[in-house]
Amino acid sequence: MSYSNTTRRHFACELESVREAGLFKEERYIHAPQGAEIEVEYPKGATPKRVINMCANNYLGLSSHPEVVQAAHAGLDHRGYGMSSVRFICGTQDIHRELEQRLTEFLGTEDTLLFPSCMDANAGVFEAILGEQDVMIADRLVHASIVDGMRLCKAMNDTYKHSDMGHLEEKLQEHQDKRFRVIVTDGVFSMDGDVAKMDEIVALAEKYDAMTFLDDSHASGFMGKTGRGTHEHCGVFGKIDIITTTLGKGLGGASGGCVSGRRELVEMCRQRARPYLFSNTVAPVIVSGALKVMDLLFSSTERRDKLEWNTEYWRKGLIETGLDIKNGDSPIVPVMLYNAKLAQDFAKDLFAEGVYAVGFFFPVVPKGQARIRTQLSAAHDKAHLDVALAAFRKVGEKHGILGLGKKDLVAKFGL
Ligand SMILES: *Cc1c(COP(=O)(O)O)cnc(C)c1O
Repeated sequence: MSYSNTTRRHFACELESVREAGLFKEERYIHAPQGAEIEVEYPKGATPKRVINMCANNYLGLSSHPEVVQAAHAGLDHRGYGMSSVRFICGTQDIHRELEQRLTEFLGTEDTLLFPSCMDANAGVFEAILGEQDVMIADRLVHASIVDGMRLCKAMNDTYKHSDMGHLEEKLQEHQDKRFRVIVTDGVFSMDGDVAKMDEIVALAEKYDAMTFLDDSHASGFMGKTGRGTHEHCGVFGKIDIITTTLGKGLGGASGGCVSGRRELVEMCRQRARPYLFSNTVAPVIVSGALKVMDLLFSSTERRDKLEWNTEYWRKGLIETGLDIKNGDSPIVPVMLYNAKLAQDFAKDLFAEGVYAVGFFFPVVPKGQARIRTQLSAAHDKAHLDVALAAFRKVGEKHGILGLGKKDLVAKFGL
């Protein structure tokens, strides 16, 4: 017997301990397209309930945009369902190259290479361009996919304290003996919604002869005056050596990612990045949809402007309600509760009030930093936000937390 009862018991025990630690993740089934309102079956087996969605990465509201859906249909009709190949064998259509060129222009770089996902872009990019003589110096809060990508690369791996430019400078000094130095950061950090100091990072890179790597997954399409990303927001558009980003968030929300940047570095990825070489091509239907997303973003800033308005309105509303939020410029707005159980109960009560937002606690965020992470979308109208704010007020009152800061919350509920 190859899968013995002992083996089975071992994994059953492992899963039980995940459950006991309160870390077991349940999926919730949604019976509708992604949007400002969705129908969620929760708990399992319940009749789907229509709720306001405050936890999608659908920043620009393009996930179900009629023009994007129509373009995807047209792509399906004209270019088929799948490519049945990796890019370099027979998986590249003209539209793949066209999308890479549009992304290059949009991101302000020299060239772009599509990957099946941004996770794959991050998994492949470091190994493709760096070797043992080099060092990657990463912010301590970078996304898990960057951590994995750095692990797969033979270059030395070092970190600096989150957004601590003094510490980064020390590390850059320490590593002057290496061949190449690469500073690695997210643009907008997904858990706190804070923005990397890209202007200072670029200045340090120039001073200490380093390259810059920016994962702009939570920023592409809306950060900056024309939505180009964190580099535009920070006034260093055109100055980033390597950008990775996803098509799975603001840029349509389907799937796919890319490496964009200096011509030679992108070409190195085309020759060597393993997820590019050994995983299937992004499907034509997604490429066609993404080309329409590019058209929409090049022709108007209306959607990122609305997202910006929504974000300000939401942040102001939560503060006036007496909730403790993390400040920042991004549409990721964490409502801090600190205690894990409180975060879970709060999310459950919000759902009962017709608002879908999820509690985050250890190990997704550090111990004692539990929160409800809310995310804004251009798909939200003011009326959605007003209903959601009323729900936060009602649930906040129920738990007696309105007006309480961190100290009071911790004193009342513990960590
Ligand atoms: C979401 C995200 C990714 C993964 O993107 P996929 O295209 O879904 O693989 C990578 N990096 C960051 C910073 C992200 O937020």
